Amino acid sequence: MTISELDQKIAVEIDLCREQIDAYAQMGLRLFASSSFQSHSIPMLHILSRLGEIDIPIYFIQTGFHFPETLSFRDRVSKDFGLRVVNVSSPISLSEQMGSGPHMLFASNPDRCCHFNKVLPLQLALSENDVWINGVRKDQNSNRASFNYEEKTAEGKIRFHPMLNWSAEMIEHYSKLHKLPVHPLHYENYVSIGCQPCTRKVSNYESFDEREGRWQGLNKTECGLHTQLIAK
Ligand code: SF4
Repeated sequence: MTISELDQKIAVEIDLCREQIDAYAQMGLRLFASSSFQSHSIPMLHILSRLGEIDIPIYFIQTGFHFPETLSFRDRVSKDFGLRVVNVSSPISLSEQMGSGPHMLFASNPDRCCHFNKVLPLQLALSENDVWINGVRKDQNSNRASFNYEEKTAEGKIRFHPMLNWSAEMIEHYSKLHKLPVHPLHYENYVSIGCQPCTRKVSNYESFDEREGRWQGLNKTECGLHTQLIAK
């Protein structure tokens, strides 16, 4: 795609996002966004930060297992963009999450660990709001490729996916254009950065899948936010 085609496509997507968020705000709906503060999440945060009067809190799911670099990157980006970050965590303490065996839950049962530490906090956020804005993209995996711009949760809350039709190329172009900050671990061959125990460096940084490096060795590609919190 040429630079001008990329610019045009991005401008259309940003306009659609603005119009939809304006419409939600006019309906009096309570909006929030979630972000894991990875480099590829930053364009959506940048766009939301420039919406003017509409206050959209950014929920960060504090699992307790993030890299310290992610926490400092979150703080830096939120300060630079003027974001109102709300940290949310599991209603079940980590000590209560220890099973009877010697291993932490992420080692013995990662699906359950993700349920406790990611799905439950987001469910609580949904219970206090009407619209959840999140940055899933169709080109990230086959699950997300099946999503629509707007979906519902099982409880009828709205999921809004403003980045759905963005490609990795558009993300990269927008990030360069606006000189957006880069997560420090990207310079150490991490491409998808989640909780520390479940994230690995990629071997070939020149050719990788964007979700590579997560839950390596397991047949797991999602934490549950985008498989459980969506109406079937
Ligand atoms: S990504 Fe790993 S550590 Fe984080 S909640 Fe899921 S299983 Fe637990």
